[in-house]
Amino acid sequence: MQEKGSISIHTENIFPIIKKFLYSDNEIFLRELTSNAVDAVQKIKRLSSLGQYNGQLGEPRVEVAFDKDAKTITISDNGLGMTAEEIKKYINQIAFSGAEEFVEKFKDAKDANELIGKFGLGFYSAFMVADQVEIQTLSYQDGAQPARWICDGSTEFEITEGNRTERGTSIILHVNADSEEFLDKYKLQGILDKYCRFLPVPIKFGTKSEYVETGEDEEGKPKHENVEVENIVNNTAPIWTKSPSELTDEDYLNFYRELYPMSEEPLFWIHLNVDYPFTLTGVLYFPKVKNEFELQRNKIKLFSRQVFITDEVKDIVPDFLMLLHGVIDSPDIPLNVSRSFLQADSNVKKINSHISKKVADKLAELFKNDRKSYEEKWSDIGMFVKYGMISEEKFYDRAKDFALLGNTNNEYFTLSEYKEKASVLQTDKDGTTVYLYTTDPAKQDSFIQSANRKGYDVLLLNSPIDSHFVHTLERKLEKTSMKRVDADVADKLIAKDEKIESVLSEEQQNSVKSIFEQAISKPNMNVKVEALGPDELPVTVTMDEFMRRMKDMAALGGGMSFYGSMPDTYNVSINSNHKLVSRILDTDDATSQTKLAKQAFDLAMLSQGLLTGADLTEFVDRSVSLI
Ligand code: ADP
Ligand code: MG
Repeated sequence: MQEKGSISIHTENIFPIIKKFLYSDNEIFLRELTSNAVDAVQKIKRLSSLGQYNGQLGEPRVEVAFDKDAKTITISDNGLGMTAEEIKKYINQIAFSGAEEFVEKFKDAKDANELIGKFGLGFYSAFMVADQVEIQTLSYQDGAQPARWICDGSTEFEITEGNRTERGTSIILHVNADSEEFLDKYKLQGILDKYCRFLPVPIKFGTKSEYVETGEDEEGKPKHENVEVENIVNNTAPIWTKSPSELTDEDYLNFYRELYPMSEEPLFWIHLNVDYPFTLTGVLYFPKVKNEFELQRNKIKLFSRQVFITDEVKDIVPDFLMLLHGVIDSPDIPLNVSRSFLQADSNVKKINSHISKKVADKLAELFKNDRKSYEEKWSDIGMFVKYGMISEEKFYDRAKDFALLGNTNNEYFTLSEYKEKASVLQTDKDGTTVYLYTTDPAKQDSFIQSANRKGYDVLLLNSPIDSHFVHTLERKLEKTSMKRVDADVADKLIAKDEKIESVLSEEQQNSVKSIFEQAISKPNMNVKVEALGPDELPVTVTMDEFMRRMKDMAALGGGMSFYGSMPDTYNVSINSNHKLVSRILDTDDATSQTKLAKQAFDLAMLSQGLLTGADLTEFVDRSVSLI
């Protein structure tokens, strides 16, 4: 038997083109050939279980080997094999209409994956690293003859009688001069680890040394020796392929350690298992969120039937869940299309919302079953939940019952619990409940204490995501507004009807105002004299909530550059009911009066962390002289 022929495409030599386009990720040849071998093994198993094959199955296996001297890499399997006719059908008739179209379409291809899948070129990826590819195969079918196919990367191929005596297929790559780096144990091992680590059929690659019991010594004690054993590179049944009921927590944790050695233990996980209307399996872990946000992203691995595809899952997993770790496996995600197409794909959309729902369900369950431990984990969990509530309306609705607000006393409330708590003392004269929060409890301590003295509660919203979360809450919660605790003096934070009487007359208040204006003499300090409680500070410097938010947004690059370029303006509130203010007013000597006013103002600036430079030096000198 000998036959020569031409692969059915119209343009000569498409392989140089393939090589050129695919050069950047040429290592995927091993993924393609190994997964073909795995498919062949799975197929013979299926045929056997269907009774269509009655011969011996043997140990299912795939083997990858290389020969440095002969410059070959061989991928062999004991799968179903191919007849010469099948080679012609499956290998020669490349599944695309013409090389012209191919060349035209992929002039600008960025990504080898894109073209391999689109045109069913898996097998042909072999030509990325080989200048000759040989198939030796024997079909499982009764009376099948071994066949050999060889092709040098031109469109010419040759089919002759093969030499295989056992069922299955070997693909022999005669590695080209540019690809000799692949004739290396560590290189190949690395690629197998990346793409083939969880393939469902054992993959043998070389041998490894193992210390094992090899018998007994003269005294009958067990004897141990180093022996060379087969090196199986993959775990054929990773946990995501199993049912959750078969698995213990330890199994999940072990798998996490396998995926991310040296990482801290995850908080908890969810097992995805859907088979209708799309197929999706996987395990997603909630890590402890550190502040190295970016480092923690992109840790989810995407598989398709246990073949590793990518760890770029940006468009498949909702953005707010990109901090999760783990694995998703779905044959229904189109792997070889552009990003914009992926986002529009209906399965991808469904998968996306399924994951989001599962995460919400898990959180709801944790909250319900053990609120205390949920609260303890809130600083980590909160990051996901808040991010999700900000970015997805649907998730907000799901999360509103298990999202927590924590205050400066380390107490946690659900949104509705908090509303109830805050509405008692913190509702203003218009019926709006004002939630107070701090972004920095150390810096804003005096304001927190003043608010607490009035019986107000102060929320701790100090994570990077909280400035956005504040906006979301305000938008979502009815008749509720949010104010940072240092946005005003405590008495004015929440506008009530009750009015505190001033001990100073109108006229006296005006003189106090001008004394301070002169002493401070800064255009961005807006001096007001107000009747506050006598226990409140004599002078308080604040920045208005609105102003501060605009500034914050400008700093984050939120398009508020107008506010960003404005000088910081502050309100200086002078407490007309404070003893010190009366004292300043009663001081006859104008110099001493200014000195006292300056001192009181500087103290207020100091407590806000705003006193710097020459002002600070002057304050220190003045303080020394006053002492
Ligand atoms: P795909 O795997 O997407 O079908 P490939 O180009 O990788 O495309 O393979 C083409 C076909 O060649 C396979 O569908 C299969 O019929 C056949 N084939 C490839 N490798 C093997 C193998 N090791 N054993 C049996 N058949 C194979
Ligand atoms: Mg394939």
